[in-house]
Amino acid sequence: TLSDRLTAVLKNLRGKGRLSDADIDATAREIRIALLEADVALPVVRSFIAGIKERAKGAEVSQALNPAQQVIKIVNEELVGILGGETRRLQYAKNPPTVVLLAGLQGSGKTTLAGKLARWFADQGQTPMLAACDLQRPNAVTQLQVVGERAGVSVFAPEPGNGVGDPVDVARRSIEEAQRSQHSIVLIDTAGRLGVDEEMMQQASDIRDAVTPDETLFVVDAMIGQDAVSTAEAFRDGVGFSGVVLTKLDGDARGGAALSVRHVTGQPIMFASNGEKLEDFDVFHPDRMASRILGMGDVLTLIEQAEQAFDENQAEQAAQKLGTGELTLEDFLEQMQAVRRMGPLQNLIGMLPGANQMKDQLANFDEAHLDRVQAIIRGMTPAERADPKIINASRRQRIANGSGVRISDINDLVSRFFEARKMMQQMAGQFGGGGGGGSRK
Ligand code: GDP
Ligand code: MG
Repeated sequence: TLSDRLTAVLKNLRGKGRLSDADIDATAREIRIALLEADVALPVVRSFIAGIKERAKGAEVSQALNPAQQVIKIVNEELVGILGGETRRLQYAKNPPTVVLLAGLQGSGKTTLAGKLARWFADQGQTPMLAACDLQRPNAVTQLQVVGERAGVSVFAPEPGNGVGDPVDVARRSIEEAQRSQHSIVLIDTAGRLGVDEEMMQQASDIRDAVTPDETLFVVDAMIGQDAVSTAEAFRDGVGFSGVVLTKLDGDARGGAALSVRHVTGQPIMFASNGEKLEDFDVFHPDRMASRILGMGDVLTLIEQAEQAFDENQAEQAAQKLGTGELTLEDFLEQMQAVRRMGPLQNLIGMLPGANQMKDQLANFDEAHLDRVQAIIRGMTPAERADPKIINASRRQRIANGSGVRISDINDLVSRFFEARKMMQQMAGQFGGGGGGGSRK
């Protein structure tokens, strides 16, 4: 994964100072590969990487994250920004009906999307209607009628038996019908071709001129990869659109098409389709798409949680104390709480790559034991936490009563703590003592 490769590239960098130019170049190469593997178009990759380099140059190496994580975080933030920077809500007409025109290649998923969008609007209290303006293929009208029935919304279609109708005329009349029957939204399903084609563009833009849509949504199959760019450009120039819908995200496409289309056309991605069923549909989530493009969803979650839980000052203090071997139970409690704020340890470890092999051990992991340790330390006075040597028998009895644990639990904790501290003091001695040669006892 990208995470592993970046870790390898940055392995010599410790959490001090800034990323060097060489480090940035090396990581940029890895990110470039990851984006190309995700099917992002080359010119888009180039301009994106340039932005990342710029930002990485100014970045301090964080104390909370390792350098690889930090670079991933920057890349991810930039990606999310580009994918959703100007996320906006759908434009509704001042005077209903709101008209939404669907445009895209044949097979991109327009008709399927029409049903999903209709259902989505209906769930929000709107009264949508579908308009069958794909009169190109014999079955297209029937297909939309089936879709409409499934979604529980009405479908406006040309009367059968009048020969091939005129899609522009059907579109126009569907608006009149919507006004008459008080539908608040009209979704116009149009014809596509297998490839970009003059006639198709002309028809779509004739429909557009006839109904002046409030939104024109360009529907694009995420699986078409690199072709997404040229297709999007053709539709931008031929019809124009105000938003993008990505379909077939249930496939194995890494989603680079999303970044390319967004970058090249400047129009926001508004919805995502991920299956053939009505409910396989959602408002577009830039963060999910970014982690899909990078191919590292769980690593990103981990980074976020690590940062949330990590207080840099706290770490600095702890590091200094570690160096001088002056760790107290108070520090110990703080560190433990910081780690546990990231969620159950079991989840935390489960998110690490390769954690599957550890599943069995994890199953035996006793979260309750940590609860007991925390309870014991919380039951101590500040003086006891700072200098556990003073915890004599009567103090142990008091703490046990107060925290609801056994005396043996306290004995256990205290003796383990002394062992740990002794080890740290030895280490500090070996490395010549850290923290500026403080007052070691
Ligand atoms: P249109 O030609 O643009 O109207 O495309 P259709 O709506 O007819 O869809 C073409 C094919 O793709 C159909 O078989 C749909 O069931 C399928 N399809 C549409 N959207 C999705 C999706 O999000 N995921 C999957 N797996 N299939 C989809
Ligand atoms: Mg269709």
